[in-house]
Amino acid sequence: MDKRIIVAIDGPAGAGKSTIARRVAAKLGFVYIDTGAMYRAVALWALRQGVAFHDMHRLEQLALAADIQFTAGSSQVFLNNEDVTEAIRLPEISAAASQVSAIGSVRRALVEKQREMAAAASVVMEGRDIGTVVFPNAQVKVFLDADQSERARRRVDQSGGDLEETEREIRERDQRDRTRAESPLMQAPDATYIDTTGLTLEDVEQAILKAVRARTSNGKEVTS
Ligand code: C5P
Repeated sequence: MDKRIIVAIDGPAGAGKSTIARRVAAKLGFVYIDTGAMYRAVALWALRQGVAFHDMHRLEQLALAADIQFTAGSSQVFLNNEDVTEAIRLPEISAAASQVSAIGSVRRALVEKQREMAAAASVVMEGRDIGTVVFPNAQVKVFLDADQSERARRRVDQSGGDLEETEREIRERDQRDRTRAESPLMQAPDATYIDTTGLTLEDVEQAILKAVRARTSNGKEVTS
């Protein structure tokens, strides 16, 4: 049996998902997919085109038409063949992505692309709805969390900025992501919850690799 493995990592902003998911993917030789970058890319395109965030129809069209590519082994993101790696990390794009991602038709278009990306390879995919909506049958599900102040501190350490402002930005975004009607951020009932506050990257990585090993053998799913 050569069933592909899906490791789903969900959690709020700043919980360490990207760093951890990238490390785990490298260790396992799986493809890493950052779904937040996809919502960010659509938000960037919408802002550039002057599309209003209530214009669901045009936003859906952009999400369907967006050609979003990742480069294996790097954190580069391409939108329609343009390198947007840095442009999508600006604070205004974080807020815009959170707004655009509340629209059901945008989500459906991107979820479709996410499922296609995982059709050909074993993946570590991170986001907000991976274990609940995109891959409810993922073999490994992890929900990463951390204290709000710790999450803001990590963001500032990584990308700079003002601590108080970052904390407010994260709080607003989490609130919107958790309370939206479409695929809100929530822990799947069968996900392993890891509070990363006070844990090292190494600790978290080992915990996830242990969960993967428990479910797989030689890169294949253990079914019994
Ligand atoms: O993970 P990141 O902070 O880059 O995600 C940006 C925004 O994209 C999130 O705040 C959330 O609103 C949205 N998102 C989502 N579903 C995902 C990934 C990200 O709604 N699977």
